[in-house]
Amino acid sequence: DKKLVVITGTSSGLGKATTKALLNAKEYHVIGAVRDLEKMAVVAELEGFDPERFTAMQVDLASFESVKNFTKAVDKFRGDRPIDRLVCNAAVYQPTLDYPKWTVDGHEQQLQINYLSHFLLTSGIMPMMTDSEDARVVMIGSVTGNDNTVGGGGVYPIADLKDDLDGLELGCKKPIAMMDGYNFNGAKMYKARSSDTKLALMMTSNMLHERFHRSTGISFSSIYPGCIAETPLFREKRPWFRKYFPIFMKYITGGYVGEEEAGTRLFQVIHDPKCVKSGVYWSWNGGPREGRGLEAMEKGGQIVGAGGAGGGWESIYENDQSDKV
Ligand code: NDP
Repeated sequence: DKKLVVITGTSSGLGKATTKALLNAKEYHVIGAVRDLEKMAVVAELEGFDPERFTAMQVDLASFESVKNFTKAVDKFRGDRPIDRLVCNAAVYQPTLDYPKWTVDGHEQQLQINYLSHFLLTSGIMPMMTDSEDARVVMIGSVTGNDNTVGGGGVYPIADLKDDLDGLELGCKKPIAMMDGYNFNGAKMYKARSSDTKLALMMTSNMLHERFHRSTGISFSSIYPGCIAETPLFREKRPWFRKYFPIFMKYITGGYVGEEEAGTRLFQVIHDPKCVKSGVYWSWNGGPREGRGLEAMEKGGQIVGAGGAGGGWESIYENDQSDKV
């Protein structure tokens, strides 16, 4: 029997590239959790996904009801087989919005799509994983959750959840857009911070490891796949950014990876027996390198020492805090 892998966002970018690598390996059946089945069908056709080993299922991560329905559909599909891998990959990134967009559930969109819905999905799928011999939950983090690299400290708003999570405590519902509740004074204060959602995912992975690894045997990890500056994730950025950012990442920081290479990295974390270790934040330096994700807790909510793709930027920018915003 094939191992069952659930991945969100297989219709584009990293999710698509990783699915290709998984299907090449022949030993997996991939359940692609996508918001647009028609788009997925076209992509699957173009990429030559084997329909015997790939099943697309609809989910809109901007709706909790949709996530619950998806979870039920997965349960029905698997029958008595366990789910072997859950990969929380889908995300939106809206850094130029100066007002929050809300979901049907009343949460800021990035917060719900990137983080809250993946939290709900993970709690729904985890009970289906306990019978697997090699169960892994992998969260896609980002270097944007890391303020000591040029990617985390300069280009993006800095992810920083070390202050009180009073927004989250109050339910993070309209009009509270952010987890730390900085926008209490109204929409003017709002800064779209998808990086906070990635940091929250990485912290959740550490928490799940601490609380559930021993009792369930499930391995929890997160990964920074490298900056894939060409994916549509940056579609909401201004045109000049889209034009120069890939060049900047490629030549100046050395932190750029192609979609396929990033997919190979995530595939390795899903597949490689070496990467079964729980509680790890994987970053890249020639091969998968154990990060220091646990320190995120100790440092009060900041992921530190994440390293960069190809080992490029950390060494160059290690002590350079000058472009911090
Ligand atoms: P893409 O925009 O190419 O892919 C994002 C995926 O998420 C798409 O398949 C998209 O669906 C899906 N998605 C968006 N909204 C929803 C929703 N409401 N419900 C269900 N699915 C949804 O981006 P990437 O491949 O670059 O990003 C993948 C992951 O990698 C993200 O977690 C991102 O944060 C992370 N990452 C990316 C980096 C980069 O440099 N690009 C760097 C570090 C991390 P659709 O195809 O319909 O649009």
